[in-house]
Amino acid sequence: MAIRRLPEGLVNRIAAGEVVERPASVVKELVENSIDADARAIDIAVEDGGRALIRVADDGCGMTRGELPLAVERHATSKLADDEALFHIVTLGFRGEALPSIGAVGRLVMTSRAQGTDAAWQISVEGGDLSAPEPAARAAGTEVVVRDLFFATPARLKFLKSPRTENQHVSDVVTRLAMAHPEIAFTLSIDGRRTLDVTAELSPDEGRLQRLSSVIGRDFRENALSLDAEREGIRLFGYASLPTYNRGTTQHQYLFVNGRPVRDRLLHGAVRGAYRDVLAAGRHAVCALFIELPPDAVDVNVHPAKAEVRFRDAGLVRGLIVGALRHALAGAGHRSGTTASAGMLGAARPEGAGGPTIPYARYPTGGGRFSAGLSEAAQGFQAPFTDGTAPAAPPPVSEGEATPLGSEYPLGVARAQLHGTYIVAQTEGGIIIVDQHAAHERIVYERMKAALAGGQVKTQMLLIPEVVELDPAAASRLEARAAELAELGLVLEPFGIGAIVVREVPALLGDGDVRGLVLDLADDLAELGEAVALKDRLGDVCGTLACHGSVRAGRTLNGDEMNALLRQMESTPNSGQCNHGRPTYVELDLPDVEKLFGRR
Ligand code: ADP
Ligand code: MG
Repeated sequence: MAIRRLPEGLVNRIAAGEVVERPASVVKELVENSIDADARAIDIAVEDGGRALIRVADDGCGMTRGELPLAVERHATSKLADDEALFHIVTLGFRGEALPSIGAVGRLVMTSRAQGTDAAWQISVEGGDLSAPEPAARAAGTEVVVRDLFFATPARLKFLKSPRTENQHVSDVVTRLAMAHPEIAFTLSIDGRRTLDVTAELSPDEGRLQRLSSVIGRDFRENALSLDAEREGIRLFGYASLPTYNRGTTQHQYLFVNGRPVRDRLLHGAVRGAYRDVLAAGRHAVCALFIELPPDAVDVNVHPAKAEVRFRDAGLVRGLIVGALRHALAGAGHRSGTTASAGMLGAARPEGAGGPTIPYARYPTGGGRFSAGLSEAAQGFQAPFTDGTAPAAPPPVSEGEATPLGSEYPLGVARAQLHGTYIVAQTEGGIIIVDQHAAHERIVYERMKAALAGGQVKTQMLLIPEVVELDPAAASRLEARAAELAELGLVLEPFGIGAIVVREVPALLGDGDVRGLVLDLADDLAELGEAVALKDRLGDVCGTLACHGSVRAGRTLNGDEMNALLRQMESTPNSGQCNHGRPTYVELDLPDVEKLFGRR
C-alpha cells in the first residue's frame, strides 16, 4: 500500500472531528476568539440547535483584508509569538485550528473590520474552499456566520442530539464564558428568543458576584460566601454557597483557570470534601471558583477543545480549594441561608411576595385601645398547660428584665419555647426561631468530632445495660465492628442470636436513645461495607451518634437551657445547619416582620 500525504482539506476535516464535536463547540471557539480580540460586547445567535445557523458578532480588534485569509488557514494564529510561548499561554485560543476546522465542515462567512480602519472585508469558506476577500460593510469588529454545520460530514450530523439538547449545550458554553468575563456584555438568542442578556460589569470586585448572580440565580448573591486565598503563587477566589443553598447535582460547580472555563473532576471531589460535614449525601454546593496561576504551572494543551487542563501540582490546587472553602464555611459559623426565611416570608405573606394584599382595614387598628388590657389578658396565657406533654411553660423572660442585648450575642436572648420544639429569641435587629433538635445535633456532632480527633472519648457506663434486638445480620455486623465502636465510646457485646447488649455510650450522648442509635448504626455499617474503616467515615458515624444524642424535639427547656443552647450555637462551627444540611434556625429581620404586617 502506498503512503501518501493527506490533502489539506482532509486534514482539516479530521482535525474538525476533535475540535468541532457539536454546535456548542463552534460557539465556544468563536466566542473565545471574540474574547481574545478584546471585545466589549459579544452577540450570539443560534437556530435549530445550531445546525441551521450560528452567528457570533463582536466589537473587538477586527482583522484587515490581508489577515482574513490567514485566519482560516490551518495552524495560523496571532496568539503564539514563538515556540516558547506554548508554555505561557495567556489567550483562550492558540492552536490556530478552530476557523479552518469549522470551515471544513460547514459554510463559514467571516466579515471583519479592523479597529482604526474604514473598510470591512468578507471571506467565505465552504467545505474547505476559500473565496477571495470582498468589500463589505460593518462596524469595527468581527462577525462569523456558520450555516449548515456538518453538511460536509453527514456521519457527524447523525450524532447530533435534538435541537433542544444542542441548545442546552450552547447555553452552557455561553454561560460559563460569561461567568469568566463579567467585563464583557453578552447576549444569546436561540431561535430568535433572547435567553441571555447581561451588560458589562464595570467594577472588578462587585461585578463578579453580580454577573454570577445574573446567570446562576439572583438569590445566589445572598447565599454566597466569598473566598480569597493564595498559596505558593496560586490564587483562588470566587464564591461558594452556604450549605443551606444546595442542589441535587454538581452541575452548578464551576471552575475557571486563568479565565478559561474548565471541567475538572478534581473540583467536584474537593468541594464534596470541604462540605462533607455540612451537607447531606446527594446534595451539592453551588460555587464558582477562579484559579489564577502562572501560565507555566498549568498545561492547557492536553485537549483539542481545551476543555480540560493539567495542573503541575494537582495536590496543591486541591488543598487550596478545600482549605479556602473550609475557612469560608467556618467563618460563616452560625450564618444560615436566607433562602429558608425568604421562602417562609413568601409563604406567610398573603399572595406571596410583594407585601400584604389584604386590605389594611382588616388588620386590627388603634392598637392603643387594647394595650391597657393586655397585661391582664396575658395572665391567662401563662396559666399552666394542662396537657401533660408540656407541663410547664418556660419562665417568661420578659423584655423588662433586659438581659444585655448586643452584637456579642448574635443569636440573641431566648424569649420562649413553642410547641416544645422551637426556641424564639430576640436579637438586636429581629427575631430568631431555632429548631432545638437540629441545633443541638450540630453542637453534639462538632464536639464529638473534636473529642475523637483529640483521641479522648469519655464514655458513660449505663446503669442498666440495654439489650437491643435486631436482625441477626445486623447484629453480627455490629459485633464485627465492636472494637472500632469501642474506640468511639460505644461498648457493646453479643447477647445471643439477633441481639446485642450496650454497656457504655459516649458521655456526650447524655441520656440519648440507645436503641435507636444502635439500629441506625447497623444501617450505616451495611451501607459502608466491610472494607471501610469506621475511622475514615467518622463524619457519618458521628452524625448518627449526634442525632440520637441530641435534645429531642418535644422536650421542654427552661430559659437557662435555651440560652445555653444559643450560646453554644454561637461558639460551634457550622452551627447554621444541622448535619443534614437543613438550617438550624431562621432569622426574621424587623423590617421583614414589619413587611408581614404591612407596616412598610
Ligand atoms: P486561534 O484562536 O487558536 O489563534 P483560530 O482559528 O480560532 O485560532 O483563529 C485564527 C486567528 O484568527 C486568530 O489567531 C486571530 O488572529 C484571528 N481571529 C479569529 N477570530 C477573530 C475575531 N473575532 N477578532 C479578531 N481576530 C480574530
Ligand atoms: Mg480560536
